[in-house]
Amino acid sequence: MDAKLVEAFHHTLEDRRRDLLTGVRAHLLNGELAAEERERLEVRDIGDDSVLDLAESLVLARDLREAQALRAVNLALERIRAGTYGICVDCGEEIPVARLQVEPEAERCVACQQRWEALQEQTEASL
Ligand SMILES: [Zn+2]
Repeated sequence: MDAKLVEAFHHTLEDRRRDLLTGVRAHLLNGELAAEERERLEVRDIGDDSVLDLAESLVLARDLREAQALRAVNLALERIRAGTYGICVDCGEEIPVARLQVEPEAERCVACQQRWEALQEQTEASL
């Protein structure tokens, strides 16, 4: 992918990361947190992963969705650093730019994403 294009997606993803992180933190602070967890969030500048772990341990559906979105954004940023951004993690083909413009954190091409989602549904149905 063109380096300028990757740079543009990088900015989009960084903005999205900041928004999501702010949202998750705010919801956690508004929720029912144990005093020590609240203190961790308020006082220290804890890392994304700690915020995510906290969100996931509280298992609030909305926060969990945001936390998962944040994780996906972080993974996309890692792929930019690794130079593999825009490449489908399953088949290794380039993900169309039009798809990335809609979903910059996408890690699969449409075909692989549909296959993956179908597999997830099957797994959930068999549980
Ligand atoms: Zn693919």
